[in-house]
Amino acid sequence: MRIEIFQKGFNYSQDGEGNRLVYHFCGCNMRCMWCANPEGFAEKGGVLSPDGLPYTPVSLAAEAISCKAMFFDGGGVTFTGGEPTLQFAALKESLKLLKENGIRTALETNATHPDLAQLFPLIDTLIMDFKHIDDGWHRKVTGVSNAETKKNIRAALAAHPHTLIRTVLVRGVNDGEEHARAFAAFYGQCDTSRAAFEFLPYHEYGKKKWEKRNLPYRVENGFVTEETVAMYRRIYEEHDLKVIRT
Ligand code: SF4
Repeated sequence: MRIEIFQKGFNYSQDGEGNRLVYHFCGCNMRCMWCANPEGFAEKGGVLSPDGLPYTPVSLAAEAISCKAMFFDGGGVTFTGGEPTLQFAALKESLKLLKENGIRTALETNATHPDLAQLFPLIDTLIMDFKHIDDGWHRKVTGVSNAETKKNIRAALAAHPHTLIRTVLVRGVNDGEEHARAFAAFYGQCDTSRAAFEFLPYHEYGKKKWEKRNLPYRVENGFVTEETVAMYRRIYEEHDLKVIRT
């Protein structure tokens, strides 16, 4: 069972706790206008395992096991993308092997896979990206509906002990007080006692990569102000939602 990866490397505490080995899986079912990793849109990535062959769950787990000493401060392995759940069977098998070998796992996902809940028991930190609360806007800026994401977020909040929900704030897209209130009202219908929330102000790190690939980058001046971030924080905290910054 082959796994297509376009990037891998260590980072500290960005996508899960401690020092982490992060694998970027190929392919994504969304086309977020501000995506920082458009190289992940392709279905093949070309990063090979240490034995010089395409990754499999077994070779990925072997590599992670050999790195165990590096997973300090609660670290482990993070799967991100692209959208890792597009390679669902290989992702599930990799998570299983890591858990069997005592390695802490994190998954960053856009939460659209219909079987995402199957993975909950295999994931220590579940990071879900929620782009827009309004379905029309969500379709406009990502290309897909937010219905499945909402369903999976509800399920995760009910069942998973450690979830982090992230929203990129983009000027003119989701930076209004009405958006913050609508997000908070949605979360208000759920048990958020074990969840944390994070806002990521828009940046343009991916813009040059889009241009290099002759892809039209359609965000113009999406930068939000500190006041916008503070407004989101205030509204979330009014709804007893725990806001963090990683
Ligand atoms: S879901 Fe993530 S990887 Fe996919 S297009 Fe959006 S930002 Fe990029």
